[in-house]
Amino acid sequence: MPNFCEDPNCTWKSTQSDLAFFRFPRAPARCQKWVENCRRADLEDKTPDQLNKHYRLCAKHFETSMICRGNFAELSTVTWNLS
Ligand SMILES: [Zn+2]
Repeated sequence: MPNFCEDPNCTWKSTQSDLAFFRFPRAPARCQKWVENCRRADLEDKTPDQLNKHYRLCAKHFETSMICRGNFAELSTVTWNLS
């Protein structure tokens, strides 16, 4: 099953490239930060556990420098609605 990015304006799909997808962090504080950055009201009702299991954002939404350091768990800055 292909991964889909939760950004409705994001056209990247895992079937189209080898772009990395990141699950929402399970740590509540960090997960909350992602949700805030996403500005998706429907995600606010979900628990970090649900988000971690079912929702992903593609690497386009994160600073490349952070990804290069392999610090996925520490990623907290999400860039939403890419154009
Ligand atoms: Zn995306």
